[in-house]
Parts: sequence; C-alpha cells; structure tokens
Amino acid sequence: MNKKEKKHVGKVYFVGAGPGAVDLITVRGQKIIDSADCIVYAGSLVNKALFDNTQVPLHDSAKLHLDEIVDLMISTCKKGGNVARVHTGDPSLYGAIKEQMVLLDNAEIEYETIPGVTSAFGAAAALSAELTLPEVTQSVIITRRGGRTPVPESESLPLLASHGATMIIFLSVSMIEDVVEELLAGGYFPDTAVSVVMKATWPEEHIVTGTLATISDLVKQAQITKTALICVGEVFSDKPLKAASKLYDKNFSHASRKSSTKIRK
Ligand code: SAH
Repeated sequence: MNKKEKKHVGKVYFVGAGPGAVDLITVRGQKIIDSADCIVYAGSLVNKALFDNTQVPLHDSAKLHLDEIVDLMISTCKKGGNVARVHTGDPSLYGAIKEQMVLLDNAEIEYETIPGVTSAFGAAAALSAELTLPEVTQSVIITRRGGRTPVPESESLPLLASHGATMIIFLSVSMIEDVVEELLAGGYFPDTAVSVVMKATWPEEHIVTGTLATISDLVKQAQITKTALICVGEVFSDKPLKAASKLYDKNFSHASRKSSTKIRK
C-alpha cells in the first residue's frame, strides 16, 4: 500500500475527568471529549454533564469487560475515529489503564493520557488542607487496603502507617474498622486526625471529621460505604501550625528572591 492509500487510523485518549465537579476537568480533556467519535466512560464516578456538548455514542465501561472495552476502542480507531476513554480523577491512579494499553499496543493503536485532578486533591481542597506541612510531614502516601484486589505485603497499612506521614486511602471506606485497627497497629495514636470525604467536589459532597478513635462510628452514622477517601494524619488536625515554610521566610534567599536579612560586615 503506498502512502496515499494508507487508511487513517484513530487514536485513544485516556482522559482524566477530575474528581466530579464538571469544571474540574482540564481544558485539553474537555476538548478531546467534545471532538471524539466514541466515548467510553467509567460508570457512576464520571460526571455525565461532561458529555453535554457531544452527540456521539456513550458507553459505560462498568457494564463491559476488558476485551469488550478494548474491542470497541479498536474498531472505532480502525474506522478512523478517535476515542475518549474517560476515567475518574487521574487515570494513573487505580485506573486499570495499563491493561488496556497493552492490548492497544498489540493492535498497533496509538494512545495518549490526558491527566486529571485526582480525587485525592479534590478531597484535600475540600478540607482546605496542605498535605505536606513543614516539620509535620513532607510525604503523602496514596494507598488502599487489600480486599478482593490484593496489596503487596510490604505495603500493608501497618507498615505504611509506621512512617507517620499523610495518608490518603482509596477504595477502603467499606472496611473502615479494619483500616483503623491497622493504622493503630502501625503506630498512629488514637487521637490522630482523620477526615473521610465522600464524593469530593460533587454537589452531594459529605465530610466527616474525627480521630482514629471516633471515625468508624462517624462513618457508620453517616452511612458512607463508597466513593470516599480516608485522609489520615496530623495535617488534617486543627492544631496550631508548627512551622511556616522556608519558601516565604523573609530570612531565606532563593533563586527568585534575596533574603531581607542584613549581613553584618
Ligand atoms: N483515578 C481515580 C481513582 C479511581 S478508584 C482518582 O484519581 O481519583 C475509585 C476510588 O476513588 C473510589 O472508591 C474512592 O475511594 C475514590 N474516589 C473517586 N472519586 C471520588 C470523589 N469524588 N470523592 C471521594 N473519593 C473518590
């Protein structure tokens, strides 16, 4: 086949939809959705208002298995169409994108990821939290508790909790009692602050705030069983700030600003 005869083959875009609010998708992500020839979206976690400007077929991937999803994408691309494969939050977190990419590679179909605002950051915003407070913690652990999907032993909650860092725990609110037990076993104190954020940035967003000692009961009272993040650590407490950052310290110079401290000669 010479170049002129070569059939145009479309591309798959893995688009991060953001945490829920319709205006928290990236501009690039929305443009790709608006111009796609086929949309495959991740069920109830993606806000369908994102598809208001498009007339193309919408496919809920929650009703399909992997081969059906990928076959649909490949057949659209082979007809020259582009696919928006829309995942909640950011596709790179618990998005099961790699297994789709492997099959697209086998079919020689091109793809690209468009990042999104993960629900972890949607929740941090809802809590007005800074996840990395000076002299408290400079690390954030994003994880889940093992359930039907196992977690490597070296990443068990007690081991991760032993760092005392900020933790954002996905996919685990239905196991809140086990989560609390394991975090305590790992060394967090019972008075460690915990906020559970359900449907961050959606109109029905709901936050319960307590400590490791109280959060299980609060979550049960609020009847939160899914679509929630467990946010754990001192950064979520209302304790007074331990230290301000060096970045804006008037005695601290960096590339964009000279220290205002006078150096004695
Ligand atoms: N890629 C997504 C996560 C997908 S896994 C992201 O970056 O956010 C699905 C899990 O994410 C849910 O079980 C829940 O734990 C969390 N989640 C997704 N959207 C959420 C939201 N708006 N508020 C709170 N948790 C959410």
